[in-house]
Amino acid sequence: MVILLADAFAPDLPGRLASYGEVTSDFGRLHEAEVVIVRSKTKVDKAMMDKAPKLRYIIRGGVGVDTIDVGYAKEKGIEVDNTPEASSVAVAELAFALMLAMPCHISEADASMKQGKWLKKELERTELNGKTLGLIGIGRIARELAVRARAFGMKVIAFDKFVTSCTDSDEMVDFDSLLSRSDYISVHVPLTPETNGMLGAKALAKMKKGACIVNTSRGQVIVEQDIVAALNEGLLGGYAADVFLKEPPEGSPLLSAPRVVLTPHLGASTGENLLRLGDSIVTRIARYSGK
Ligand code: NAD
Repeated sequence: MVILLADAFAPDLPGRLASYGEVTSDFGRLHEAEVVIVRSKTKVDKAMMDKAPKLRYIIRGGVGVDTIDVGYAKEKGIEVDNTPEASSVAVAELAFALMLAMPCHISEADASMKQGKWLKKELERTELNGKTLGLIGIGRIARELAVRARAFGMKVIAFDKFVTSCTDSDEMVDFDSLLSRSDYISVHVPLTPETNGMLGAKALAKMKKGACIVNTSRGQVIVEQDIVAALNEGLLGGYAADVFLKEPPEGSPLLSAPRVVLTPHLGASTGENLLRLGDSIVTRIARYSGK
């Protein structure tokens, strides 16, 4: 079988997959591919699947399959998979870094130093210690973040539609309580019709004045113009994001909004994670091929 690696993976992955089939990264061979392996960059839509008559198995190296037209794949009898176990630590570390960057003013301090300024008096810090972190969704990434937050002396509360108890959270609460009690909110739900736009004006109005949001989930989970309005009005203390409505977020009002820290979808981009993704993909191909 032909295995097409459509996006960038660890350099040793083609060699590790070689015993299961012919591995190629030549997208021009899509029509021959039985297995296509992607990350976030390649969107597997109808048009792509129609150009791949032999396609039987799609693996997304990453969490979630929202970059794949799963309904159409199902219609065509193509199996769709992802590797949700691999990326949790990488994303949680970035979410923690984004959370810490806001009260420490890392971006502003660094940029102003490089402009020859010394804002020692102006940049007043606060501490994470003693603050409440509210996790929206207490899945794999959120639980890794909870461990790190507790080590920094934070109280962790969580809201999850499908999880009622979790030892990594000090308390499970409803959505409104999470909004009103948290000093920091970190979003870890998948993108679904229900989570689309869940942090818009109505939810933001229920938050503590000056609370901050970290979003490493998906750009569509927040309502961008409402976040920008809340930042401009001083209701939101800060917004730190790795994910955007459109990526790259060209022309987004977030780029010029105050108290914003942004990273270019780096959540899963660690060398260690690439190796773990490789392990997860090899395991799945071994199962698929029955070897
Ligand atoms: P997970 O499936 O382990 O956890 C998601 C949690 O959200 C689950 O506990 C689920 O019950 C909960 N949930 C689902 N719908 C909900 C709703 N309507 N309301 C409340 N809770 C709900 O997923 P994970 O591995 O923790 O990943 C979370 C998300 O992070 C992924 O779906 C993906 O969008 C994003 N992600 C981003 C990056 C990045 O590079 N920034 C990398 C990996 C994953």
